[in-house]
Amino acid sequence: MTQAVEYQSDILVIGSGAAGLTLALHLAETSSVILLSKGPLAEGSTLYAQGGIASVFDEGDTIESHVNDTLIAGAGLCDKNVVTFTAENAKASMQWLIDCGVAFDKEETSDNQQDAPYHLTREGGHSHRRILHAADATGKAVQTTLQQRALNHPNIRVLERYNAIDLITSRKLNRPGNRVLGAYVWNRDKEHVETITAKFVALATGGCSKVYQYTSNPDIASGDGIAMAWRAGCRVANMEFNQFHPTCLYHADAKNFLLSEALRGEGAYLRRPDGSRFMPEFDERAELAPRDIVARAIDYEMKRLGSDCVYLDISHKPADFIIKHFPTIYQRCLELGIDMTKSPIPAVPAAHYTCGGVMTDLHGQTDLNGLYAIGEVAYTGLHGANRLASNSLLECLVFARAASQDIESQLQKIQLPMNVPSWDESKVSNSDEEVVIAHNWHELRLFMWDYVGIVRTDKRLERALRRCMMLQQEIQEYYSNFRVSNNLLELRNLVQVAELIIRCAMERKESRGLHYNIDYPALLENSGPTILQPT
Ligand SMILES: Cc1cc2nc3c(=O)[nH]c(=O)nc-3n(C[C@H](O)[C@H](O)[C@H](O)COP(=O)(O)OP(=O)(O)OC[C@H]3O[C@@H](n4cnc5c(N)ncnc54)[C@H](O)[C@@H]3O)c2cc1C
Repeated sequence: MTQAVEYQSDILVIGSGAAGLTLALHLAETSSVILLSKGPLAEGSTLYAQGGIASVFDEGDTIESHVNDTLIAGAGLCDKNVVTFTAENAKASMQWLIDCGVAFDKEETSDNQQDAPYHLTREGGHSHRRILHAADATGKAVQTTLQQRALNHPNIRVLERYNAIDLITSRKLNRPGNRVLGAYVWNRDKEHVETITAKFVALATGGCSKVYQYTSNPDIASGDGIAMAWRAGCRVANMEFNQFHPTCLYHADAKNFLLSEALRGEGAYLRRPDGSRFMPEFDERAELAPRDIVARAIDYEMKRLGSDCVYLDISHKPADFIIKHFPTIYQRCLELGIDMTKSPIPAVPAAHYTCGGVMTDLHGQTDLNGLYAIGEVAYTGLHGANRLASNSLLECLVFARAASQDIESQLQKIQLPMNVPSWDESKVSNSDEEVVIAHNWHELRLFMWDYVGIVRTDKRLERALRRCMMLQQEIQEYYSNFRVSNNLLELRNLVQVAELIIRCAMERKESRGLHYNIDYPALLENSGPTILQPT
């Protein structure tokens, strides 16, 4: 086997969303960084985030209130230390973003607009206005600003369309200790596998909502980082808590388009097809109840009425207010023939956010020495059984900063890995049956939606696990015999995270937060995170 290493750097960051970019930019001040993205550099959930980022900026608001709201949304499973750490570090992290040039909306004043306070919006579950935003395209502002800085930074080498396959660890190479040494990476354009070694590796690969048939996430959200970390021996936690966003646009020509939480924050009502409101019948907070409650209520009403969707209606607000606050949504709806200033928007729930993931400490360090997990790929303990809206981009920023400080403090002590073997392709051939991938891909996402979706039962979970293990075997066989491709790599990861979700869901014998099992509708008195340990 040859021992050619294509790239080497102090830090390998896998993922170029808010988490990966923030980490790369912090570390590039002192180190060499390689930044990978699986598809185009901008493509990730960050780009599509609409609502904003939670942080205490208003004088009437407090850190305690932000902590408290997060704990309530998390339904008793948040780690309070982590929540406090995040809320306390929010303002400094936001200031860094502002200093990088992200232009958050400000209040309109007659005086000097430069000094105007930031316009803070309110979202479900927050007891104050504390969401900083850039109109309704906050993620785009963050993504484009940070990636431009990364592209211009002399210490950051950006590798686009590079799909990380697996981590290289000293244990896998039968060397002493257990440390990450780099990753094998599929160069999608040249169609071959390359080796990257680094002193530290960070997974910033986002979530795994693509495991469900309906999702608000872009195609890259196939849980690659979670599957890679699991295969490398890291613990994974709370995978049963997948957040279903209550309102995605329901339209034959719209893929994954989200109708932001902020619409309900600014007064939109949810209506049945006959025009009547239903949320007041489910929760005293009505449309401002946390997402899990709203998603379940919609699921219940749709199943009860046999309707394809419900309706989100903000048409009672002035048209200029709607167009100013929601220009992206307004434009997209208009393109599809829906004028939201005049009529309600058809909406359905969709898989939106992965609360669980790779277990880390307060610095983003995982179980494997030198391996960090930041952003949606991670389980830090912040979200518990349910994520409070606009806390996820915040988690990316806060933990990327904390990880960069931790890595910097160790950088001088660690040597670059030596003599790492190249990927071995000697035993595989070109695939002759791509249909296996396409078929299994659909089957997996459909049974996850039907059996492991918003409402679960023991029977459905058992059914799902049986199918999942069968698919895993088939896909593993395929993977061992044929050359890799992007679809195969994603499917291999999806079927792995599907198993982790199902196993976590089976272990939880209660209904809490985002996990609802008809066979165990009550809350257990003593409950904790569901932790899975690789064997
Ligand atoms: C429609 C939508 C709206 C949202 N709105 C909000 C909001 O208003 N506020 C909020 O706080 N949160 C929001 N969220 C959630 C939030 O956007 C995400 O949690 C956050 O952006 C995740 O950032 P990330 O950096 O962890 O991952 P992402 O931004 O998803 O980036 C993942 C990166 O990893 C790369 N990658 C993945 N696998 C591999 C691989 N194998 N090899 C190489 N690279 C890989 C991808 O190419 C990509 O660059 C929203 C999410 C969606 C989908």
